[in-house]
Amino acid sequence: MTAIIDEQNTATAVTDFDAIVIGAGFAGLYALHKLRDQLGLSVRVYEAASDVGGTWYWNRYPGARCDIESVHYSYSFSEELQQDWEWSERFAGQPEILLYLNHVADRFDLRKDIVFDTRVNSMVWDDDASLWRVGTELGDTVTARYVISGAGNLSVPKTPEFDGVESFRGQVHLTGNWLDENIDFTGQRVAIIGTGSSGIQAISEIAKTAGHLSVFQRTPNYATPIVNGPADPDVISAVKANYAQVREASRNHFLGVPYTQVQPSALAVSAEERRRTFDERWNAGGFQLFIDSYQDILFDKNANDTIAEYIRERIHERVNDPAVAHLLAPKGYPYGTKRPPLETNYYEVFNQDNVTLVDIKTTPIESITETGVRTADAEYEFDIIVLATGFDAMTGPLMKLGIVGRDGLKLSDKWAHGPRTYLGLTVSGFPNLFLITGPQSPSVLYNMPLAIEDHVDFAAEAITYMRDRGLDVIEATLESEDNWVAHALEISSKTLLPETDSWYMGANIPGKPRICLLYVGGAPAYRATCDDVVANGYAGFTLDRAAVPVS
Ligand SMILES: Cc1cc2nc3c(=O)[nH]c(=O)nc-3n(C[C@H](O)[C@H](O)[C@H](O)COP(=O)(O)OP(=O)(O)OC[C@H]3O[C@@H](n4cnc5c(N)ncnc54)[C@H](O)[C@@H]3O)c2cc1C
Repeated sequence: MTAIIDEQNTATAVTDFDAIVIGAGFAGLYALHKLRDQLGLSVRVYEAASDVGGTWYWNRYPGARCDIESVHYSYSFSEELQQDWEWSERFAGQPEILLYLNHVADRFDLRKDIVFDTRVNSMVWDDDASLWRVGTELGDTVTARYVISGAGNLSVPKTPEFDGVESFRGQVHLTGNWLDENIDFTGQRVAIIGTGSSGIQAISEIAKTAGHLSVFQRTPNYATPIVNGPADPDVISAVKANYAQVREASRNHFLGVPYTQVQPSALAVSAEERRRTFDERWNAGGFQLFIDSYQDILFDKNANDTIAEYIRERIHERVNDPAVAHLLAPKGYPYGTKRPPLETNYYEVFNQDNVTLVDIKTTPIESITETGVRTADAEYEFDIIVLATGFDAMTGPLMKLGIVGRDGLKLSDKWAHGPRTYLGLTVSGFPNLFLITGPQSPSVLYNMPLAIEDHVDFAAEAITYMRDRGLDVIEATLESEDNWVAHALEISSKTLLPETDSWYMGANIPGKPRICLLYVGGAPAYRATCDDVVANGYAGFTLDRAAVPVS
């Protein structure tokens, strides 16, 4: 039990823990370390999985890997950790990232405060005692002054839109909930449904051994080369020699990576120069084509057309059958308005005899049957079906927490028409709750470990600020929330994102409000705003004592 002591040294409330953290991925692990080891708070973490890792625990499908270079896609909070850890590849695969997160858990002795195999399903704010009552599926309830949600943005796989999955007599695997690394595809008739980032990674791998792989594609994606390989020792030493500056440069970049070659406008240069730039970035790999070529591609349709056309041309060069290339080349929506997948040999896979592309835009899937897949015009038989059908992104994991704020207000009701937050981190009516990389923050448009550290640090500083002043409760005002929502939507409306049905817009889930779920103003502008809020004594928040002190 933890007594919260005010300035007069009288206990104002008693809680089981100072803070509850949801999730043991990048966010939950760092939140536990920060709050417990640096602030000295009592902290409990609840994690639905049996071990740490979050995304990298649940996504063990073949080909799963990060698409931001590992020297950047990693924690920056410990100089010793970032110096000690050795990445074996430029873009680490899932097993190595999971190993890294296990190392972090062990190195900072985190496991002892994590309760695994336990899903939080209710969180109710008790206004009289100014605390959260956090309930789990196992039926127990604990109290805490603060809740830090590290429940993730991509941790609730989407329920398939078609019927019959349970009736299939073969194996069904979901990329977003894939725990078995040893599925053997050798000689099997395999279907994969979905060609988003996960699907594209999995297709390249599964095609190596499957007897036959049928790829069911609704919307083709603008996939570009990742250019992965063994970590370059020279690059690693250069980064390690200047890690602090590298991280600073990352934090001052739109996407949180220290790229420096972006140019103002694709339309301000000649076609030849543009082509040269695109070729260089294409060959360099990673997200360099996306965010290190021209600044206006997410904002100006004409600029976007130039890069979209470039990618289509490159796809046609790589696919032998022009009809298949035509189907694989995305049209009708701007590049970058869906999360751009990165690939290795993805387009070449469709030149293999054991791979077929099935266009389910024109002939949609009607159902999964006992033996395979039925589309509008054909029946297919399979041994294994892989569902790469994406996630209920950003809001899905939060909606499942059963959050009830002041005066019985449910988060699900408050967000019935889309998320409403202040800074993508807090919600009016839901005091002392911090949503790490929540909706309307840069989150998935930012290098996530850094986005996570920024948010956890914000929460920890706010808690420290209050503790120092004998305060107990922090809450966003309705006005600041209204302004933030309007600001986030105004920025997104100036980009091309709203033109496309994507999970960024909530459009992949039937019935989900169609609204931009991200702050698209870039990480540097966002961080500057958060810094101003802190510098101005938590502008836009009310800070208070507990409502009814308990002696
Ligand atoms: C395949 C894949 C590749 C990715 N690659 C990149 C990349 O290259 N770069 C990048 O920046 N981002 C990438 N991401 C995004 C990735 O999710 C983040 O980078 C990061 O791992 C998120 O960490 P997190 O701790 O916030 O959430 P998660 O890693 O999703 O962890 C959340 C944890 O919370 C637990 N949880 C959720 N709800 C509850 C509950 N109610 N009760 C108890 N536990 C709960 C979950 O079980 C999960 O373990 C990728 C995502 C996927 C799916």
